[in-house]
Amino acid sequence: MKTEEEIERVSCLIIGSGPAGYTAAIYAARADLKPVVYTGMVPGGQLTQTTEVDNFPGYPQGITGPVMMEDLRAQAERFGTSVRFGYATKVDFSRDGGIHKVEIDGVKHIEAETVIIATGATAKWLGLDSEQKYNGFGVSACAVCDGFFFKGQDVAIVGAGDTAAEEATYLAKLARKVYMLVRRDEFRASKAMVHRVMNTENIEVLYNTEAEEILGDGQVVTGLRVKNNQTEAVSHIDITGFFVAIGHKPNTELFQGVLDMDETGYLITKADSTATNIPGVFACGDVQDHVFRQAITAAGTGCMSALEAERYLMAKQDIV
Ligand code: NDP
Repeated sequence: MKTEEEIERVSCLIIGSGPAGYTAAIYAARADLKPVVYTGMVPGGQLTQTTEVDNFPGYPQGITGPVMMEDLRAQAERFGTSVRFGYATKVDFSRDGGIHKVEIDGVKHIEAETVIIATGATAKWLGLDSEQKYNGFGVSACAVCDGFFFKGQDVAIVGAGDTAAEEATYLAKLARKVYMLVRRDEFRASKAMVHRVMNTENIEVLYNTEAEEILGDGQVVTGLRVKNNQTEAVSHIDITGFFVAIGHKPNTELFQGVLDMDETGYLITKADSTATNIPGVFACGDVQDHVFRQAITAAGTGCMSALEAERYLMAKQDIV
């Protein structure tokens, strides 16, 4: 009988359990790769922290993020995926097409012929207590996911990068008014994006302005206390939605110095592929995509990773 400390050999190890990881698992399992998924600390990933998901094809009435992730997990398990709670703590990837070693929770050792990395990204938050208190009840880090619920209402968005600019203009199409909080006296976003913001009538940009506290009635957001960091003047804004768009952090610490990444830590994959710089190691979902970051795009690249892992294993067999 195997003990926890013993080494387990698998043909396809998937790290992460968001839409990318589970979709990779569904495809890998159907290809008889008998994938093993380690879920990470938040099984189901970022979507388990949202409420309604209305933009994933196939759910005409919408679905909640947690239920959707349970469905994806059940679908992966139906084809024989082994889904386990655990966190990858160390990797030792073979650079020459050999076996990759991954340590789980510091105790378990997996040897894998292919590894699919789907560890996702984490939205950055301001760090206000009220932000977490009302997360999902008026506070969101994804305008495309949640903007719809604020149709005709007044909302605020914090951030001044391309994401914030893009999301502010997206929200402006739905909301009555969008307050955009920019902490400096200028944007970080590209000129084209700033131009778009400035030319949108119902966006009001508040420069040198920081969110001090999100106000609510204990259930939902009702307003915002802001401070001008130049004049120290404090004021209140009536809003029902508060969007944070100050960037995401890809979950790639584990792969530093091992896998190629860009200057912000996103894994670099080959063009039209999910292959990393290490043969047999693939990356899908938000961990390698700072532009789209949608459940459906993550699922799409998860599918690509599994197909590429399968082809990689078949090519290896042909060589032997
Ligand atoms: P960025 O890191 O580019 O911008 C983050 C923004 O949030 C900055 O304006 C920053 O302010 C602000 N910020 C950070 N912390 C705080 C805080 N505590 N309080 C208030 N404001 C804060 O992140 P993005 O997500 O916007 O973009 C990430 C990358 O993705 C970029 O390279 C971007 O160009 C790219 N992208 C491209 C798109 C496209 O091409 N269509 C769409 C979306 C993103 P400050 O400027 O003062 O530091």
